[in-house]
Amino acid sequence: MRKRIPWKQYFMMQALVIAQRSTCDRALVGSVLVKKNRIIGTGYNGSVTGQPHCDDVGHQLVDGHCVRTIHSEMNSLIQCARNGVSTDDTEIYVTHFPCYNCAKALVQAGIKKINYYFDYNDNPLAIKLFKDCGVPYEQINIDREYVEQLAHKLEDAEN
Ligand SMILES: [Zn+2]
Ligand SMILES: [Zn+2]
Repeated sequence: MRKRIPWKQYFMMQALVIAQRSTCDRALVGSVLVKKNRIIGTGYNGSVTGQPHCDDVGHQLVDGHCVRTIHSEMNSLIQCARNGVSTDDTEIYVTHFPCYNCAKALVQAGIKKINYYFDYNDNPLAIKLFKDCGVPYEQINIDREYVEQLAHKLEDAEN
């Protein structure tokens, strides 16, 4: 009997797929903004449109960090801004725990919950900000059975 994927895993799986479009391999990060179980915006780590990609020309390192890309979370918010979509009362599903800069932008944009998959040197300033502002965060797991169900579907299509 096939089991339907629960909402949280459904959105996180999409963030993980979106991350595959990232252009800086120091971190393949993807995110989706979700309001009332509808996706209103998506983003991945990438260069400004039309600018060179880290994967093609190497990283742009400052103090040991690559600063070329716009982070996934920012790109998700920017997509909503460009489309005129309010991010109030929205949850984010993001593959990696947000950095401090993204954490500030998410709180300021009205994001009400952070759902993440990978721990990523979880930034103590980001954690403090989420706590101080009453924005909960939760690590989401994906049951292997849903990944395997998908893999079997793809195999069936090949055979
Ligand atoms: Zn880079
Ligand atoms: Zn960030």
